[in-house]
Amino acid sequence: MIDLETLKSLLVQPKNIVITTHHKPDGDAMGSSLGLYNYFIQKGHRVKVVTPTDYPYFLQWMPNNPEVIIYTEHQEQSNKLVAEADIIFCLDFNMLSRINELGEEVRKSAALKVMIDHHLEPEGFDDYRHWNIGACATAQLVYDFIVNQLGDRELINKDVATCLYTGIMTDSGSFRFPTVTSDLHRIVADLIDAGAENWRIHQLVYDNATENRLRFLGFCLSNKLEVLREFNTAIIHVSKEELQQFHIQTGETEGIVNYALSINGIKLAAFIVERADRAKLSLRSTGDFPANEICKKYFDGGGHRNAAGGHSELTLKETVEKFKTILPEYKTLLLQ
Ligand code: 5GP
Ligand code: MN
Repeated sequence: MIDLETLKSLLVQPKNIVITTHHKPDGDAMGSSLGLYNYFIQKGHRVKVVTPTDYPYFLQWMPNNPEVIIYTEHQEQSNKLVAEADIIFCLDFNMLSRINELGEEVRKSAALKVMIDHHLEPEGFDDYRHWNIGACATAQLVYDFIVNQLGDRELINKDVATCLYTGIMTDSGSFRFPTVTSDLHRIVADLIDAGAENWRIHQLVYDNATENRLRFLGFCLSNKLEVLREFNTAIIHVSKEELQQFHIQTGETEGIVNYALSINGIKLAAFIVERADRAKLSLRSTGDFPANEICKKYFDGGGHRNAAGGHSELTLKETVEKFKTILPEYKTLLLQ
């Protein structure tokens, strides 16, 4: 581990910097990565953002998005960048398995590894960390890193502010989760002062659905929603064929689980989707219910208490059954 002063002294000279984030990047992953990118380029560093996989079209409008390199599409170039980097910033994840094959390249690289993250239980691959599980978004920690650790508030320009605002907005469920504090609102106010157009960002992310996506949502809610009142749990599960039928692209299933959670009395919601070779689970919960415990214990995953994910090698049907057989173990908590 190195301390902040050492990191600061390294950043005085222009460096080769790679910024990476977790696979299937979400708004916080892309917002924090491009926010940090748009900051570092002002300091004269040579910076690249490398994502392990692609990400949804409604996140592809952020400033300097065309500069992002997708590992699965440019493997050789990505490996070279990672191998030759002086510093690798790992944002919004804390286990190298979260970036797929890119993880071993990062592990092998002689670069200094800086982790900025808000998830539980870091693996410990990093040399410097700005880690706080109380933060609502990694973008919040990137703001804190730039402003309070590096003392560069004046470099939060419109581009940086736009990206960081996006990260905070998406990871806070549009400023409604318990992690949203008055301090966070002060940061958000500062980002608006720095040029983030809050209304426009909201529109670009949330009011940008394809017609198919909306019809798919309708299909999920009327045909696929199962409410298990005896466990205060709601499940939506969809097959590969159903995804194809509605031409659903990467990221377009995001957020559907929240509709299941919005039913009164529901404490736990699951969205289970059949992918190429596995079933992927997204769990959401209210209050103290530990959705991440279920994902960690039974579905090779993890996450936050109220938002977690995992997967299973079983068929979709078997995965749904497995999920249901776990519920009795949590009945007391679910009925509280
Ligand atoms: P989502 O349901 O949106 O895919 O994921 C919700 C949260 O759970 C994310 O914040 C993410 O960090 C976490 N998560 C999702 N999938 C996995 C997984 O396979 N492993 C771990 N450790 N965390 C996951
Ligand atoms: Mn995040």
